[in-house]
Amino acid sequence: MNAVSTRKTVTEPAREIEISREADVVVVGGGPGGIGAALAAARSGADTVLVERYGYLGGMATGGLVTIIPNLSTIDGEQQIAGICQEVIDRVDARGAADFPKKEDWGSTDPKLVRHYVDANLAFFYIRRDLNLGKDRVLYTVVVDPEILKCELNNMMEEAGVTLCLHSWGTRPIMDGNRVRGVFVENKSGRQAITARVVIDCTGDGDLLRPAGAECDDRMVPGLRISFFAFPFWIGNVRMDRLEQFRAAEPDRYAGLMEELGRLGGANFYIKDLVPNHEGVAWFYPFHPSLRQADIGEINRVELEGRKKMLLSYDFYRKHVPGFEQSYISLSSMQLGIQGGQRVVGEYVCTERDISSDEVFEDTIAVFPNNDTGEISARHPSVCIPYRALVPKGVEGLLVACRAFSSEYPFNEHFNLIPHCIAMGQAAGTAAALAVREGTEPRGVDVVLLQKRLLAQGVILPGGIGSLRRPDSC
Ligand SMILES: Cc1cc2nc3c(=O)[nH]c(=O)nc-3n(C[C@H](O)[C@H](O)[C@H](O)COP(=O)(O)OP(=O)(O)OC[C@H]3O[C@@H](n4cnc5c(N)ncnc54)[C@H](O)[C@@H]3O)c2cc1C
Repeated sequence: MNAVSTRKTVTEPAREIEISREADVVVVGGGPGGIGAALAAARSGADTVLVERYGYLGGMATGGLVTIIPNLSTIDGEQQIAGICQEVIDRVDARGAADFPKKEDWGSTDPKLVRHYVDANLAFFYIRRDLNLGKDRVLYTVVVDPEILKCELNNMMEEAGVTLCLHSWGTRPIMDGNRVRGVFVENKSGRQAITARVVIDCTGDGDLLRPAGAECDDRMVPGLRISFFAFPFWIGNVRMDRLEQFRAAEPDRYAGLMEELGRLGGANFYIKDLVPNHEGVAWFYPFHPSLRQADIGEINRVELEGRKKMLLSYDFYRKHVPGFEQSYISLSSMQLGIQGGQRVVGEYVCTERDISSDEVFEDTIAVFPNNDTGEISARHPSVCIPYRALVPKGVEGLLVACRAFSSEYPFNEHFNLIPHCIAMGQAAGTAAALAVREGTEPRGVDVVLLQKRLLAQGVILPGGIGSLRRPDSC
């Protein structure tokens, strides 16, 4: 489908929209950011509605088949992301549907353990080179079963008292001057209005931002991870023993085949052993470059190309690679893998400089291990996120807690992952509930109180945080 021409227009008639719900907090988007935001807001006492366009929660972490929750610890094994993210992991783990290195192995240099993750093609997520030690080390990273995750997320929402509004698109913010007062929602029952004291944009793409008048930064450069779509899929019933034997016995032939498949445009990289009991499943994440991942023309192009490449890859593996003879395509991603896009311009913009500044902001609401920036990581093992990066400039009643948080692309590239978004969501949801309780705007929330609340919820913050003074600029 091509983008709609802007030269001809029609006028949409004005109409009265029924207010279907008056809430304290509306969270739009039920991905990692939305999960953290809705749970935190409801648990903090706010009447909370979560609007999600699909019939399940989790966003990319479930429907996008992105089931790896990485970078929970620094390379020396210190856990830095916990809170709701850890709770979610515990819930899935209690059902035997999560896999991760034992706590005593976080930071380990044990060559046998390192080999295990390298063999499963999981080195990228579990192993980092410690440039100071000159050795590989194991990170605290978790893989989860997406179907169990969907169910447990529903359970957690129910327990917290979040009202779920599934199969519903949040289309536009309800505006009163520069203040957001709720959101218009479209679903099979038509168009409704949900009013709220605070709206949290967790759509990933920042769908509500421009209609709310928020300034956005959509700069991006080719080659970055976030400049690629992905079309993930699984091939099941692969005889992994035969495949591994073939790779070990004929490495040059295997490499030649993968090169050929790559030339044809197929997916020549797979991951195995991702989830307990998923034996025989090979996971593929072929990338598709695009600098406009919220453009419907691009979305359609990649959805169609992705499926063609999936079929091409499947045919190739079955024909040429031992182990795939009786395999089948068991699942393709229910939602297209979008990795990056516009970001809000907030009261603070996280930049490349922040990756190596070691700055502990007075309004720090999360700390993230910095494991992916090579030599910089070795010298600066973590970064802090200020609350101001969730507060849009010039718009009231709105917070942003998803990959569209206020950040330039070099920063967003490394810190927009699942655990990061859950953590930012938890801070935004807690702040929104505080704003409702105190009768203030989100930007006016007492950040020291916010930090104390986050600490009490099991969030890990740098030492001293929670007792600092309030920053003047927020
Ligand atoms: C192929 C691929 C591989 C990746 N690998 C990893 C990895 O291994 N580990 C990792 O941690 N991260 C990984 N990421 C990144 C990670 O998945 C995302 O950055 C993260 O999911 C962002 O969370 P989010 O809440 O911002 O957005 P999303 O996960 O996109 O969630 C947004 C949610 O909002 C909903 N939504 C969107 N618009 C609307 C609307 N208008 N109304 C209602 N609902 C709406 C969506 O349906 C979705 O549920 C990967 C991403 C991709 C695509």
